[in-house]
Order: sequence, then structure tokens, then C-alpha cells
Amino acid sequence: MSIEKPEYRKKEEAAEVSEGVLYASLLSTRRRRGERLMSDKYAVVGNPIDHTKSPLIHLSFAKETGQNIDYAAIEAPIGGFSEVVDKFRREGGLGLNITAPFKLDAFAYCTDLKERARLAGAVNAMKFEVDRVTGENFDGVGLTNDITRNLGRLMKGRRVALLGAGGAARGVVLPFLEQGPTELVIVNRTVTKAEELGRQFKQYGPITAIGYSALADKKLGRFDLVVNATSASLRGELPPISPEVFGDDCLAYELLYGKGLTPFLRLARNAGVKRLADGVGMLVEQAAEAFVWWRGLRPDTGTTIKKLTVPLE
Ligand code: NDP
Repeated sequence: MSIEKPEYRKKEEAAEVSEGVLYASLLSTRRRRGERLMSDKYAVVGNPIDHTKSPLIHLSFAKETGQNIDYAAIEAPIGGFSEVVDKFRREGGLGLNITAPFKLDAFAYCTDLKERARLAGAVNAMKFEVDRVTGENFDGVGLTNDITRNLGRLMKGRRVALLGAGGAARGVVLPFLEQGPTELVIVNRTVTKAEELGRQFKQYGPITAIGYSALADKKLGRFDLVVNATSASLRGELPPISPEVFGDDCLAYELLYGKGLTPFLRLARNAGVKRLADGVGMLVEQAAEAFVWWRGLRPDTGTTIKKLTVPLE
């Protein structure tokens, strides 16, 4: 693939700076040369993309932290992800968020992968430096931050059930295990996919992989946290779980956001669960992690979460 490299990104310049301060160094180089400072370019790529909240989130982070950035939403054609990213880089783009269905394409595009992205097998944020393209996956850490910081729930010593073994669930397993639950049970309709995740992550903590019929077996008991990382709610469906999975003082978390009480959240509420949450906090927290990675500054997420929250009822 041929990429035109802007003058300021020559290799010898980039060698002088460490990863975390690359942005500041580029800026000062450009200022020394008296170059007119254009806004730094970022974007989210997906298909479809009209529903995305990422521009709103990143531009509000930029405003709050005094950063001068452009943030666009780009719809890439299916099968045309690489060409869209090549063009974005030629135009000087510095980073991308990646949403469905391109997280695997982004994984394949990267020249370097951070540990979380490598283990998840999916990339949701990319950073472009000289001739290096680094891939990260902030979905899991975004969810973990929302649960532990915003919702005040510790996972340490708790029993956690993760429903689903698709793209989002894959990114969640490692950050969850890092929180030290007594048990992480992955439940999936296609049991072999859950088992594959179980095998891949077993060295990182206590993980069990099962299907829904095994979950119905009362010997598995109740959970302190039940996370719906399936796409069932997108079609108004409910994963086949019984209300008995929800323990006393359980948090029921739905990854889908902005849709009010999904069948999963309704089941939890009807089972007496007091703490219900959708994925808006996860969305904003993963964006904040990408923003820190790109810009070196941590935005406040509370205001943005509040702005985007659709009441559950
Ligand atoms: P995938 O298509 O990769 O995976 C879908 C998963 O859902 C699979 O495990 C599939 O099981 C399971 N599934 C689908 N329908 C049902 C059903 N009726 N009953 C039981 N299981 C079912 O989707 P993603 O992982 O990318 O997305 C999952 C959800 O997470 C979506 O709602 C998405 O909107 C949300 N999301 C939210 C984010 C946020 O920031 N808040 C970020 C990313 C995703 P099987 O393997 O058997 O097919």
C-alpha cells in the first residue's frame, strides 16, 4: 500500500519522540516551522454510520480540554475499508474509531497491535504514526470503567455472567478478568464460540464457558453482575435466561444503548433487580480512552454521559 507521508512526519523526527508525546512533538515542530495549524483529523468508520454519537462525544471532549480537532463520521462500503483508511491517512488523519462491521478489517490493517486488541482479535481504535498503524481495543476497558467508576460496582470477589461471545464480548473478557471476579461465566447460544473464548483466556483468570441450557441448571447459582453482550435486543429478542440468574443486589447491564428497557432489562426489572444500566456509559468511556491515547489528556465523561442518556423508562 502506498501512503504519502506529510513532511512533518519524516522518520528521523518521529524517532525522537516516544509514543505518548508524539502529538505534542508534531505540534511544536510545526509551530517552529511557522506552519499554519490545521485541526488534527480524526473520524469514526462504520456501515451504517448515521446513528453514530462518536463525533458529538469527541468534539465535546475536545471543547472541554481545549483541543483543536476535526472529527468526522465516514461510511465505508462493505469490502472497502482499507481504501477508506488509506485515503484518510493520505489526507493527514491521525486516528480512527472503528465500529461495526469493520473491527476485524481494522485488526487486519494494523501493523502493530496492543495486547487488548491482539487478544480480542478486534480493533476499535487506530493511531497513525509515520509508517506505523497501531490498533487498540477500548470496548472492554470502557465497560469496566463504567461499571466500576460510574456505577460504583466492584467486580473483585463477585460472580459475573457475560451473555454472548461475539465481537463486543471478546473485548470484554480480559478487562473483566483483570478486575478479579471469583468467576466469569461466558454463556453463548453457539456453545463452541464460548468454549473457544474460555480456552483462549483461561490463563488470565477463573473462566467457565457454557450454553444457555447449562445456565438454567440451578447449581450455577445467581450472579452479582449479568452483562448482555448479545445482539438479541437489536431485534427485540431475549437471550433464553431465567430471572433466577439475577442475585440479590445484582447489576444488570445491557450493552445496547439508547433503546430504553430492552427485553433483557425488562426481565431483570421484573425479577426485582434495582440496578439497571445500558451501554451509553461504555460508549463514552471507550471514547475517552481513545481520546487519552490520541491526545494525552483525560476528558471528564460525566457530562457527556448525562447528555446522551436516554431514560430507561
Ligand atoms: P456480534 O454480532 O459480534 O455478536 C452477537 C452475539 O449475540 C453472538 O454471541 C450471538 O450468539 C448472540 N446472539 C444474537 N442473537 C441472540 C439471541 N436471540 N439469543 C442469544 N444470543 C444471541 O455483535 P457485537 O458483539 O458486535 O454486539 C453485541 C451488542 O453489543 C450489540 O447490541 C451492540 O449494539 C452492542 N455494543 C455496544 C457497544 C457500546 O459501546 N455500548 C460497543 C459494541 C457493541 P451466536 O454466537 O450463537 O450467534
